[in-house]
Amino acid sequence: MPLSDEKCNICPRECGVDRSRSRGFCKVKCGNDAVIISKAMLHFGEEPVISGTRGSGAVFFGGCNLGCVFCQNYKISSGGIGKEISLGQLGDIFLRLQDKGAHNINLVTGTHFVPQIAHALKKVKPRLEIPVVFNCGGYEKTDSLKMLEGLVDIYLPDIKYYDNTLAEKYSGAKNYFETATAALEEMLRQRGKYIIQNDLMKSGVIVRHLILPNCYKDSIRIFTALERYREYILISLMRQYFPSGKAADYPEINRRLTTFEYRKAADYCADLGFKGFTQEKGCDNVEMTPDFDHGNIIEI
Ligand code: SF4
Repeated sequence: MPLSDEKCNICPRECGVDRSRSRGFCKVKCGNDAVIISKAMLHFGEEPVISGTRGSGAVFFGGCNLGCVFCQNYKISSGGIGKEISLGQLGDIFLRLQDKGAHNINLVTGTHFVPQIAHALKKVKPRLEIPVVFNCGGYEKTDSLKMLEGLVDIYLPDIKYYDNTLAEKYSGAKNYFETATAALEEMLRQRGKYIIQNDLMKSGVIVRHLILPNCYKDSIRIFTALERYREYILISLMRQYFPSGKAADYPEINRRLTTFEYRKAADYCADLGFKGFTQEKGCDNVEMTPDFDHGNIIEI
């Protein structure tokens, strides 16, 4: 997938559009040698092994190839907020985040910019002394992920659904679980078992999962299916769901998670012997989401 490819097939949507002229599902319209970013900042809201004490160097990309109806970051995923920058500027942001003390470079929702991210990383990777995190929705092609081999140290896929009817309903994504499982296999092929040194993640895969209202049984099916990777991955179980985006149009998910739902999923995950992270009650607070409306896009 060269940068000059006029038909975008970067992700499983395979829209086949020229994004310099029109928008595909991810809603991005920009030059093939550019990206849209919505925020670059030190971020303290990730897992402790990612945020550490000095923060994760997060770069939030504009647009998204999943478009979940309940998106917690819908202001940027819908393509409304963002700035087009060159790949040279993107590399400079990575280096500035490192200079500011970031424990890692955290590429948030960059699936639709994989070739551009790989290009920028190749230029600056020799000067980066911190790991690079690819923080994504699990809806990636394995061929795209191969472009990141040797450039990304930590994969953070958010595996959202086991039941593909849920994936189609809430994210309009076909074959979601099979696609996410193939992506996870590729991530593990590249990085192997997780490595943590001095309380910070250096390499490997953390699988995130956001439990949805009325869907804890689907969460349980995900953990059952992932059990065969238990020795190699960490699980981050998120309870921060709050109705956002278009969730009001779906009454069954138009509420916060109950403690019963969270405990059912969390206890099952623990019973299977997974290691990883859970979230405390009270994290389902809209104020935990970065403010994309105010301040500079590049806050470093
Ligand atoms: S990256 Fe965007 S335009 Fe390209 S295939 Fe995916 S959704 Fe479509």
